[in-house]
Amino acid sequence: MAKYVGPSCRICRREGAKLFLKGYRCTTEKCSIDRRSYKPGVHGQRRVKLSDYGLQLREKQKVKSIYGMLEQQFRNYFEKASKSKGVTGEVLLQLLERRLDNTVFRCCFASSRAQAREMVSHGFIMVNNRKVDRPSYAVNKGDVIKIKAKENQAKVITEKFEELKQRTIPSWLKVDEKLLTATVEKFPVRDDVGFPIQEQLIIELYSK
Ligand code: SF4
Repeated sequence: MAKYVGPSCRICRREGAKLFLKGYRCTTEKCSIDRRSYKPGVHGQRRVKLSDYGLQLREKQKVKSIYGMLEQQFRNYFEKASKSKGVTGEVLLQLLERRLDNTVFRCCFASSRAQAREMVSHGFIMVNNRKVDRPSYAVNKGDVIKIKAKENQAKVITEKFEELKQRTIPSWLKVDEKLLTATVEKFPVRDDVGFPIQEQLIIELYSK
């Protein structure tokens, strides 16, 4: 499967927004958006007014980049959301938030979604005492997420957690700082996303 392996900052510059794709390094390093606020590429400094289609496309690409997904996978989430009973845009965001890699990131067990995804696929994450190595696993109410690590690894993760917990942990997750476990108290709602997303534009794009 095709995978983007270029610089993360290039994606932010393309979308014209800080997407914090490098986790804690986004706050410690000089951000590319601050240094070069124009689009990447030779024509990046040209002023181009986006059409409605362009705006919809950029919004979809932005959300895909935030959650680190490829087109087909993202499209599948949309199809699932559109078949559900709720408001499609809200259900779509809820499904994305419920991904295990995102949940690990939101619990502050990892500094970025990319790192959380690696932790999951390398078998460091247990859900209800069972190893789950699928980043797309959708967490459910009552699930208990735990880090499975050797003593020295757990120490590093605990130290990192102390640093990362300054970030807001959403109310749908309850984290036990001592045991480094998280419980899914409820399903996330629209306001829990914590990032400015215009999901309506994505719905309009896919509904054409
Ligand atoms: Fe995006 Fe800035 Fe982080 Fe780079 S440093 S990934 S441009 S937020």
